[in-house]
Amino acid sequence: SVAGVPAEVPGPNRTQDRRQPQAPGLRDGFVNTPDTDPSLAANREWADAIRSRMRGSTLGNDTVAANTLRTAAEVDERISTGVAAGEAWRALGVAGRAEILHRAGDALQARRAELLEVMGSEAGKVIEQGDPEVSEAIDFAHYYAESAKRLADVDGAEMHPVALTVVTPPWNFPVAIPAGSTLSALASGSPVIIKPARQARRSGAVMVEALWEAGVPRDVLQYVQLDGRELGARLVSDPAVGRVILTGGYETAELFRSFRPDLPLLAETSGKNAIIVTPSADLDLAAKDVAYSAFGHAGQKCSAASLVVLVGSVATSERFRRQLIDAVRSYEVGAPEDGVNRIGPLIGPAEGKLLSALTELHPGQSWMLKPEKLDEDGQVWSPGIRDGVQRGSEFHRVEYFGPVLGVMTADTLTEAIDIVNDIDYGLTSGIHSLDDDEIQQWLANIQAGNAYVNRGTTGAIVQRQPFGGWKKAAVGAGSKAGGPNYLVGLSEWTDAAVRT
Ligand code: GLU
Repeated sequence: SVAGVPAEVPGPNRTQDRRQPQAPGLRDGFVNTPDTDPSLAANREWADAIRSRMRGSTLGNDTVAANTLRTAAEVDERISTGVAAGEAWRALGVAGRAEILHRAGDALQARRAELLEVMGSEAGKVIEQGDPEVSEAIDFAHYYAESAKRLADVDGAEMHPVALTVVTPPWNFPVAIPAGSTLSALASGSPVIIKPARQARRSGAVMVEALWEAGVPRDVLQYVQLDGRELGARLVSDPAVGRVILTGGYETAELFRSFRPDLPLLAETSGKNAIIVTPSADLDLAAKDVAYSAFGHAGQKCSAASLVVLVGSVATSERFRRQLIDAVRSYEVGAPEDGVNRIGPLIGPAEGKLLSALTELHPGQSWMLKPEKLDEDGQVWSPGIRDGVQRGSEFHRVEYFGPVLGVMTADTLTEAIDIVNDIDYGLTSGIHSLDDDEIQQWLANIQAGNAYVNRGTTGAIVQRQPFGGWKKAAVGAGSKAGGPNYLVGLSEWTDAAVRT
């Protein structure tokens, strides 16, 4: 049947690159969920049907309307409800919770089509970008379920939930990030209040509906939207809140800390990421990976490549520049419902620093590809590439979160690594090189949580590439999402020493 995704989506495993190192820890009992294979005609028809439903989609509306809080008393009531519900959730034990989490993974799979519809309609996510995101959400459910079981078996150590967890996910991954944060807290035994970003509130609602349907009680997982910033401050400031899991801008983490200085915050924040291309690289592959990393989802990913640093002979190579332009031009730009596009609209009209990055050149720079505004509002832009970005300039160090890539040059790999490390964030980083010594030098020196060799910098995969960064890319985080230690960091631990 083409209505709804087949239970087992035919197709390859979602990754093509099998050279990445395997994370230690959990392997048995967990297999990554495959994406929908677009080479099958039935899947293409399935995707067409989803696109036709995007315009005017109302999915998630009821949950949003029923859970929009307007007063401080309503916030307080939700907090008490969550605290009270935590007892029974904890008493269920690791195995009982894991069973529900596995069912949650199945429920997300069953709702794959709905999740794609709502993400496209509300947040401009094209199906090609949204489909791997749904797979990732499903992966989180099964992975954290198994991960909690494994941690429960550690001899002499007892894992305890941290009490009520507040989850505040972003709009750019409207399903995978809310799901991952929520499922990890639930797996560790904590009740959750989730407040999805306003721009992606319906997508978060559909994700939560799937978890409710799978058996997560509605008071253990509460969905809210808040009317006004004061209510947000009240929610995170309540001492009953034992943890806040935030994914968003660095400034949001600072704002939360201003509400409550001792806030137990686990935050994945901003990124400003670069891919280095050395003369030994496969330049065809490099051009393709840089283009995808920079412009997938219009560059609105913490993991996106915002800079490419060309080394030695590549720095002066006209051929590589032409290849890069060709690779980028091969992407269609437009609304998710209009067809097979790779670059959708921005979440809102470009403004502030992003607007100037799309329109203004600085001294010494030139457009290799000049961004064009394609609609009245300034929400749809063709991709831009600016050449001649200087070390220490604004474009070198500021995160823009949009479809614009800067080209920098370096004489040597050592200089290129320095340029990249001279950025305040250390989330993802890439190198294209076919020289083992170069790769080793880069891996030993690059300051980044996720380092990608001969691959793009986006699309980390649960278990295989636990995701999270260094420096200003992380606040209060010692562990990485989708990795073996994430639940360790989300829990309290009792290590017993018993003299007999
Ligand atoms: N985990 C996503 C990736 O690897 C990025 C998440 C984000 O943008 O916050 O592409």
